[in-house]
Amino acid sequence: MTSNYFRAEIRAMAGYVPGEQPQTSGFLKLNTNENPYPPSPAVAAAVEEALRRGLQKYPDPVAGAFRRQAAEVLGVEPDWILCGNGSDDILTIATRAFVGQGQMLRLPYPSYILYKSLAQIQGARSEEVHFQSDWSLPPAFAKSVEDLRLVFLPNPNSPSGTIVSRDVILALAEELPCPLLVDEAYGDFAEFNCIDLVAKNEKILVSRSFSKSYALAGLRFGFVVAQPHMIAQLVKVKDSYNCDALSIAAATAAIADQTWLAENRGRILATRKRLTEGMRHLGFEVVDSHANFTWNVHPSQPVKPLYERLKQQSVLVRYMDYAGWGDGLRISVGTDEDVQTCLNRLEAILS
Ligand SMILES: *Cc1c(COP(=O)(O)O)cnc(C)c1O
Repeated sequence: MTSNYFRAEIRAMAGYVPGEQPQTSGFLKLNTNENPYPPSPAVAAAVEEALRRGLQKYPDPVAGAFRRQAAEVLGVEPDWILCGNGSDDILTIATRAFVGQGQMLRLPYPSYILYKSLAQIQGARSEEVHFQSDWSLPPAFAKSVEDLRLVFLPNPNSPSGTIVSRDVILALAEELPCPLLVDEAYGDFAEFNCIDLVAKNEKILVSRSFSKSYALAGLRFGFVVAQPHMIAQLVKVKDSYNCDALSIAAATAAIADQTWLAENRGRILATRKRLTEGMRHLGFEVVDSHANFTWNVHPSQPVKPLYERLKQQSVLVRYMDYAGWGDGLRISVGTDEDVQTCLNRLEAILS
């Protein structure tokens, strides 16, 4: 059988399944936390300029132009930054760099399912530590166990949109025996972030994505901030040219336009409030979100049929069923109009 060619770990794993990406138009897409607005106009200009320069040559392997620009924006030095082909690439690099075969990686539950797949690919073990019912972390999350080599913490978390305080993260890093990768894919939508904590503890790494707050999910670009001696090791693990010339140019232009980011963030946060209040009005329990989506649980109605009915009406939200925790609908913050359409359809379905 052909499948016998594969490593046992690969055959045994289910494989990460991303949210649906229908390749036909007509869906109101509120299922994978994409930004509903176009990116900064500076992005298209930078891509055109990069195209004019041509693609015959390999790109800068460490994306120096981006690192310099991002360093200025974030208040760090360029050698504190490593770029990736989306922040998923950063998560892969970290897993490969820190976690050996049979060793252990920790993640909170429910959170980003990809972390577990990364452990499986690596032939490593993973430990899912359940959040407490109020989405705070239990003491077990900080516990040192044998062979623990990496801890992932999405902050804000998905699917909840909840956030763990800086004090907790700093204390975690002090207690843990291994690096703590704070996945700030949604960090730009929150009131605080952990970038400056990287300087306080070498175990803290912070990853960022251009897919959500910069409206560039189709581009694939992300980065991690860590102390320079950590970056120097991580660089060895990445593909030689993991970011292409067009994405480096685009991401550099995008992060330079902080005015665009602030305006976009303001719009998303205003619509998030409408979505939260609208869903609560419809009887859902919605925890306050610090990201560009909300987590919606219904105290009496099964929510899977609601997801299916919405989909029949071309409104795509994310139905998540976490074994041992429960299910719910994760709804991305679209435009005001998108969110109103979703609320109206749900109201009709529920009545
Ligand atoms: C979307 C997401 C990512 C991946 O971002 P990319 O930059 O598109 O790879 C990483 N972590 C979390 C928690 C996310 O939701």
